[in-house]
Amino acid sequence: MGVKISPPPSLIETASQNDRCSYTSMSREEITPASYLLPHNMIVAVMAVTPRALLAFVTLLPRTPPGPGNHPHLSPTEKWENHMSDQLHAAVVEKFNDPLAIKDLDLPTPGPNQALVKLIASGVCHTDLHAAHGDWPVKPEPPFIPGHEGVGEIVELGPGEHSVNVGDLVGNAWIWSACGECEQCRKGWETLCPNAEYGGYTADGSFGTYMLVDTRYAPRIPEGADPVEVAPILCAGVTVYKGLKVSETKPGQFVVISGVGGLGHVAVQYAVAMGMRVIAVDIADEKLELAKKHGAEFAVNAANTDPAEAVQEYTDGGAHGVLVTAVHPQAFGQAINMARRAGTIVFNGLPPGDFPAPIFDIVLKGLTIRGSLVGDRQDQVEALDFYARGLVKPTVKSCNLEDINDVLETMEQGKIDGRIAIKY
Ligand code: NAD
Ligand code: ZN
Ligand code: ZN
Repeated sequence: MGVKISPPPSLIETASQNDRCSYTSMSREEITPASYLLPHNMIVAVMAVTPRALLAFVTLLPRTPPGPGNHPHLSPTEKWENHMSDQLHAAVVEKFNDPLAIKDLDLPTPGPNQALVKLIASGVCHTDLHAAHGDWPVKPEPPFIPGHEGVGEIVELGPGEHSVNVGDLVGNAWIWSACGECEQCRKGWETLCPNAEYGGYTADGSFGTYMLVDTRYAPRIPEGADPVEVAPILCAGVTVYKGLKVSETKPGQFVVISGVGGLGHVAVQYAVAMGMRVIAVDIADEKLELAKKHGAEFAVNAANTDPAEAVQEYTDGGAHGVLVTAVHPQAFGQAINMARRAGTIVFNGLPPGDFPAPIFDIVLKGLTIRGSLVGDRQDQVEALDFYARGLVKPTVKSCNLEDINDVLETMEQGKIDGRIAIKY
């Protein structure tokens, strides 16, 4: 167990309600940066100082909200010493298709460029389900800990220099690290680095109380963020934000979001924020209701209506962009017929399998079909900024680590509205 350092296989070839869960306890409006940062016993003292001194004072405070296991009155070193006896309580894939095993393991030690992070929350992505099933041609190696939407506090830094400090809130992401040296990295396409490590796939992930991150690649969590609510931005958010960018859909043009699950429900919000006219397609009415709540102007249930016909008619000739996040190959074939002449279709979804692609339609309509894998660090910063500015607000329910197998089963049945995130 721990981060595997053997050269990982490339994934690039593959790229060519749970009643026991509860809604996030606080809304973003309720959590202000100050209420998040200030231990209750310090509020009176702060009220008596000048704004400048207050700013300096707040900057020095620990960033973890007071709660079980957190000790805001201790220095970072003392906090870490206090955790040294802790174990890693994690959900582990021991064998593909078996339920995840809940285990206590030794804490990993951060190496150079690495930090040990105590988790506060982790989103559960459909990719984690693909990983636990060994769905893809390039497979992870059990035993491993899934999870790549983790949010937590740095409790120990590995040897060497870092651009983050103990106490900072960071996340893990699918691009856990990249080599920084290869042609793709040199071109600014670190998402396509053949030497990349993938969070919760080739490197142990966030389905546990602690994880390692590479501090050069770990997303920085904006101050004031609700850890449960921000978690889905780290994969679902950045993936669809990048997907929408490479769809080249302009403000005022139509974009179809096919599949309104964890990725799709934030895609609707990013597209609206980016000025696009959003059409949602899914096979479940509840998902389409959620899409409309988040700003879709038209919705089609592909289980009982031909989505291509409905989209062609509503848009008078097809959508300028189509973003497919669905987990069924059928949606990929349908996307081609939803697109307008010269339109761009972007595939984010990764269900195993293939689909028929009509050569005549693709050529005659001048279509572009493009795969898109998560986003780079700058995409991540921008995706988080949409959240921090209140333009995107994931619908998230929280659950316990022990509920993970129920959550994965509910996901497989397509019955999760938005995202579920583990709260530690
Ligand atoms: P999810 O389970 O939350 O949502 C999937 C949605 O697809 C559900 O709403 C479901 O009703 C819908 N769906 C199923 N069949 C459909 C059909 N025929 N037509 C339209 N909609 C249909 O999953 P998620 O977490 O949003 O992930 C979606 C996919 O994206 C997964 O395959 C995941 O591995 C992949 N993914 C890719 C990237 C990337 O970088 N490309 C990143 C994250 C996730
Ligand atoms: Zn993901
Ligand atoms: Zn590289």
